[in-house]
Amino acid sequence: MKSDIIIVGGGVMGASIAYHLLADGFAGTVTIVERDPSYEFASTTRSVGGVRQQFSTEVNIRIGLYSVEAYERFDQEMALDGEPAHAEFQQRGYLFLADESNWAVLNAQYRLQRSLGVEVELLGPEEIRRRLPHLRVERLRGGFWGKRAGYLDPYGVLQGYLRKARSLGAAYLHAEVVRILRRGRRVVGVETQDGRQLVGDEVVLCAGAWSGELAATAGAPLPVQPIPRMVYCFDPAEKFDYELPLVIDPEGLYFRHESGRQVLTGKARPEEPGFRFQWDRDYFMEDLWPRLAQWVPSFECLKLIRGWAGLYAVCTLDENALLGRYPGLEGLYVATGFSGHGLQQAPAVGKGISELIRTGRYETLDLSPLGVERILTGKAERERGVV
Ligand SMILES: Cc1cc2nc3c(=O)[nH]c(=O)nc-3n(C[C@H](O)[C@H](O)[C@H](O)COP(=O)(O)OP(=O)(O)OC[C@H]3O[C@@H](n4cnc5c(N)ncnc54)[C@H](O)[C@@H]3O)c2cc1C
Repeated sequence: MKSDIIIVGGGVMGASIAYHLLADGFAGTVTIVERDPSYEFASTTRSVGGVRQQFSTEVNIRIGLYSVEAYERFDQEMALDGEPAHAEFQQRGYLFLADESNWAVLNAQYRLQRSLGVEVELLGPEEIRRRLPHLRVERLRGGFWGKRAGYLDPYGVLQGYLRKARSLGAAYLHAEVVRILRRGRRVVGVETQDGRQLVGDEVVLCAGAWSGELAATAGAPLPVQPIPRMVYCFDPAEKFDYELPLVIDPEGLYFRHESGRQVLTGKARPEEPGFRFQWDRDYFMEDLWPRLAQWVPSFECLKLIRGWAGLYAVCTLDENALLGRYPGLEGLYVATGFSGHGLQQAPAVGKGISELIRTGRYETLDLSPLGVERILTGKAERERGVV
């Protein structure tokens, strides 16, 4: 079997890259190889769907500016035969809360974001109370409100890109890649679990948290580790008559409304790397719930509905994406290591990788600060706004 471009992993990143390649005029064949079309363990379908422009590095802010616009247009742009896609981007905002502990850091980020054109406002405690009357603001110095940010349906995004990519000619192969094949300093295809070889000129590795082990099969180390993260959904006794933005407290606890006025919440805690998908009810009961009730007293009465765990593909160098050509190995491209912000970066990354493969350079957005070379140079592009 032969395909000009082989995309390993059909999560949001693989689907976006396939779509952008074909929509931008690539005339060859593109095949997405995905081992689980149900996406049971993919990070994409386990994500919280947050989309924002409030980051700490210039490159991530520029990606955020691009992606917010792309998601504003997404449902229409990915329409097929008049049927819109269903990302259903809800622009209810992101609100980063600041007290003395994180004021200086967030304020510096705010200035950088404003200088790059992000529509972010600094709100005082009283203004926060006016917008979110249920939130306690006494210990706050302020909040940073990104008004075009919000959240969307990750599965709707994935299916929107996949459906459109396939309509443009992408092939979708249900198979597990066990090895990336190389001849000398060149990648020449992949081998699948059932022993088939798929030959190609370019292999794009976007297998999420599994990318590190797959890259190793080509002798191409990647510092990407699977780190479990848990999410909880609860039903608060008191229903607000307004929708919450995605609120993040100074310790990284976040919460936002889900449909039916339920609330999604989570908070990163130190975890050993591993492919684990169990969720820990006690963590909610003992740690998150008391914190939630401190911010919103009416959350003292709630019913925990469900929880789940998914994997962050964490780039251990700097918690930022690894993008582009793999140095010294012709034909291998990488798009992984997104930690907790890959869903929102998918439009910009799909566009960028498509440009890099088709024209040899980034045209729309310069994604080179996230280049894979930095694993050799050690030049970190650390993102401090990982939630
Ligand atoms: C709990 C949680 C919350 C998150 N919240 C957000 C958020 O609010 N906003 C945001 O932007 N991001 C968020 N993220 C991060 C985001 O989900 C990821 O960065 C993004 O989905 C990565 O997409 P991907 O396509 O690279 O990986 P994935 O979605 O994991 O897709 C990789 C695919 O590769 C396939 N694959 C793996 N190995 C092989 C193989 N050997 N052969 C064939 N196929 C293979 C897998 O089956 C999978 O479908 C969150 C993640 C988690 C876990």
